[in-house]
Amino acid sequence: MASVRLEDVHKTYPNGHVAARGLTLAIEEGELLVFVGPSGCGKSTALRMIAGLETPTSGRVWIGDRDVTQLPPQERDIAMVFQSYALYPHRTVSENLAFGLRMRGSSRTLIEERVGRAASALGLEEFLDRKPGQLSGGQRQRVALGRAIVREPKAFLFDEPLSNLDAKLRVDTRAELGRLHRRLGATMVYVTHDQEEAMTLGSRVAVMHDGVFQHVAPPMDVYSRPANRFVAGFVGSPAMNFFDCDCEEREGAPCLVSGALSVPVQAGEWVRKAGPGAILGVRPHDIELCAASDCDVPARVDVVEPLGSEVLLHLQLGTDAEAEHVRAVVSPEAGARVDDVVGLRFHRDRLHIFKSSSKTRLN
Ligand code: ADP
Repeated sequence: MASVRLEDVHKTYPNGHVAARGLTLAIEEGELLVFVGPSGCGKSTALRMIAGLETPTSGRVWIGDRDVTQLPPQERDIAMVFQSYALYPHRTVSENLAFGLRMRGSSRTLIEERVGRAASALGLEEFLDRKPGQLSGGQRQRVALGRAIVREPKAFLFDEPLSNLDAKLRVDTRAELGRLHRRLGATMVYVTHDQEEAMTLGSRVAVMHDGVFQHVAPPMDVYSRPANRFVAGFVGSPAMNFFDCDCEEREGAPCLVSGALSVPVQAGEWVRKAGPGAILGVRPHDIELCAASDCDVPARVDVVEPLGSEVLLHLQLGTDAEAEHVRAVVSPEAGARVDDVVGLRFHRDRLHIFKSSSKTRLN
């Protein structure tokens, strides 16, 4: 296994489209790092440059201590794992696993040893004589992974490997991939547009937008202290609420104010940097219902969506003409009903404050 490093990597496609703007990142040996971001943000381009399927316009790519920027894919000693439909349908699992090694002229003993080891690591021993058509989607995915494992590469690259599986299978296969990563201790780079997949799988996640890594950190750090407004809105479900606020002083303390909303905040260095305005972010899970006399803002319940253990409320602040909409996740015991007027209180330790101009985190 090896580390993977990007050093100020830029990519402009021949049609002039800029897909990577100065990507710099060190992926440690044995780490599972996830590139996550909306469609078109440049995740696959970044992965394909590590694989050697695209060449950077400038910058360098390192695998271990080797500069591989100009090397073709087959000389990089990495394995790209595609979706399971890349299997050979007329060959057995065993033949699928052995195929790459056989093509490279590896000895029979080596092939048997590696296929045996991969099959055991993936729990595929009992399926070795079956054809892919006789396997479940999850099992086929494991075979696709097995084909990469037998090569014992320096790193595994995954491009949306679970996207063609149904929801339940995706969750199961994801958990299996996580377990497998721990067992193999392999360096893995994984691309997905699904923030939940990224959060659950990654040792670290690299949130991408517009060809730039916006925030690279362990999942919970990204969730609890997102680096900017984009990351804050992308990570977490339901998505964070945002309010364009004025910074005012009320009763001697700084306060973020937006219409009827007034949230006292701790004074800090950020107040000076904010200027007259700031964006306040609060996650739906960090809002509680309270008495109108004690609230940050009154709101009217618009829609109630029971989710089982919790309830998602869509609320409206202000009058119909200038209404702002807010989502809150509360306990079913709160008993909120459509058209109730309730008080909302934001969790003071979990406020996210961003600069209005640059949208970067202030607090
Ligand atoms: P993602 O994986 O995040 O969906 P991609 O890396 O596939 O994004 O693409 C990033 C941007 O580059 C997109 O706008 C896409 O249309 C563009 N792009 C990708 N491949 C090419 C190509 N071969 N030629 C021109 N533009 C491309």
